[in-house]
Amino acid sequence: MKKSPFSKTKIIATLGPSTIDIKVMEKLILSGVDIFRVNFSHIDDEKIIKKIILNLETLNKKHDHNIALLGDLQGPKLRIGKVLEGTTLANGKTIIVTSEAIISNDKIVSVLYKDLYKDLKPKQRILIDDGNIVLEVIKKRKDKTLECMVVYGGKLKSNKGFNLPNTTTSLDALTGKDKEDLKMIIKYDFDFVALSFVRSVNDISHLKSILKKHKSDLLIVSKIEKPEALNNIDEIVDESDVLMIARGDLGVEIPFQKVPVFQKQLIKKARAKQKPIIVATQVMESMIVNQTPTRAEINDAASAVFDMADAIMLSGETAVGKYPVRVVETLQKIITYVENNDESKYKIPFVVGNKNEVISNLIGYHATSLSNEAGAKGIILFTGSGNSVRFISSTRPESNIFVFSTNNKTVKQLNICWGAKVFLCEKRMKTLPEAIEFASKILKKKKFIKINDLIISMIGVPIEDCAKTNTITLSKVK
Ligand code: PEP
Repeated sequence: MKKSPFSKTKIIATLGPSTIDIKVMEKLILSGVDIFRVNFSHIDDEKIIKKIILNLETLNKKHDHNIALLGDLQGPKLRIGKVLEGTTLANGKTIIVTSEAIISNDKIVSVLYKDLYKDLKPKQRILIDDGNIVLEVIKKRKDKTLECMVVYGGKLKSNKGFNLPNTTTSLDALTGKDKEDLKMIIKYDFDFVALSFVRSVNDISHLKSILKKHKSDLLIVSKIEKPEALNNIDEIVDESDVLMIARGDLGVEIPFQKVPVFQKQLIKKARAKQKPIIVATQVMESMIVNQTPTRAEINDAASAVFDMADAIMLSGETAVGKYPVRVVETLQKIITYVENNDESKYKIPFVVGNKNEVISNLIGYHATSLSNEAGAKGIILFTGSGNSVRFISSTRPESNIFVFSTNNKTVKQLNICWGAKVFLCEKRMKTLPEAIEFASKILKKKKFIKINDLIISMIGVPIEDCAKTNTITLSKVK
């Protein structure tokens, strides 16, 4: 059985060559992973996807878990082309940038973006390889190439990504490759799909319309990594199911010192709207090659826990790193310690949230205060859609949130919510006492609660009408 008592902050681990093995995946789950991520920038081979699905099904069954799966679309990631081995760009040198597919060298660099000439203006910058190399446009040339100055030089390697901060590109958020990958994500019944480089609600609405056409119930994770997204952030939060602060690209696209402030603001914003939020990228970066994290990384992970993000995501650390299991164990240790030793965290002001859910939300808010005042060991919820859980989770109660649902998809998708431990329940409950007895039995067996613990139960009555949550009870476990 995984982490018991479990922590509230969830862990997402990216799968890759270091981890697509059933034994390693099992160790990751037992060390604390709640959701696996497939990054379609690197894995889009159907055979590998099938293997991941099969491994996960086997492990979920074996351990009675509901570990979910997130498919992350590459999006319109810009890349340079092939580069002559050993090429280095020297600071202060003038070079030519072309969108013609040639082998790049230290005089001419080829980028795989046909509208480069149209979209870029003098003084704008091209940031290659996460900003390790910076070029500035000096002038547009008649032959549709750009003359650029190397502001920060370095070794140039084939196929590296590049970013165009403050340049409005004419690219669709969903590329041809994304559309193909999306078909696979739908076919193999993933639980979440992450949309990269979201700029406006239109990008999300477009994806939603495709999902609707396929009758897919995937939840959309909007990756916030473009300055345009920051300008439209309120609408984007409203339209998304889940948010991700994708700090890798974001830290290149906007001045990096702005990222920590934005991270705190976005976590607050997302919580106020009951949207789970993921903090991603370089969390334990040095552990790709080292056995221990840097002190700064420990602080960064802890800071996401203090800020009460719903989930922390590992990328290269588990996909290609040398110590994937150790990374998850390390992150879990930090999460557990910070959660158990932060005294300031359970003082959350009430936010109404969705006005149509005002009764459920008020009930939820008071369930949280009652639970905090009473020192309850759990808030038990029965849900179909998961809305009541998203609300309760957003109030960040001190006690654990135990969720029961007859809907397998809801069970997996709620895995991302802060503090929620979710169980599939085969039968529908008929009365509130029956529901409490049913939940208590399971939770006692799993040692989450014991006789005489106080518990809060929330349900919608009449149960047979699938009413929205309107009732709270406080009782002792029998
Ligand atoms: C990021 O840029 O931080 C991110 C999560 O996206 P990707 O890993 O797809 O580059």
